[in-house]
Amino acid sequence: MNRARRDIWNKSAGRCWYCGIALSDKGWHADHFNPIRRNWWENTSLKPENDTKDNLVPTCASCNIQKGSLSVEQFRQKVQGFINSLNQYHTQYSVAKRYGLIQEVEKPIRFWFEDNIGHTG
Ligand SMILES: [Zn+2]
Repeated sequence: MNRARRDIWNKSAGRCWYCGIALSDKGWHADHFNPIRRNWWENTSLKPENDTKDNLVPTCASCNIQKGSLSVEQFRQKVQGFINSLNQYHTQYSVAKRYGLIQEVEKPIRFWFEDNIGHTG
């Protein structure tokens, strides 16, 4: 791991900034906490001012991919909606629920950094 990535990793001592899972040495992502809103077609960024070291946080691949260029509050809304999406579109999920294999819990989404860091960067 190079120095720049080590600095990002150290912000959470190797935990995903959002879900808190322990990251493995390889395969973790550096996420722009405040999105840069990348335009992949033109290879430009709509918020280049957010492309700073301080704005990069360590994440697991799935949180980074799910967050995409969403703000943290938009990401929270998206995660909150996962249960609805599972119920609507995933037959195995609703059948497993019917058989009592799944218990849904209504709770607010708390990100790892909110309980362990309290702020970004
Ligand atoms: Zn994660």
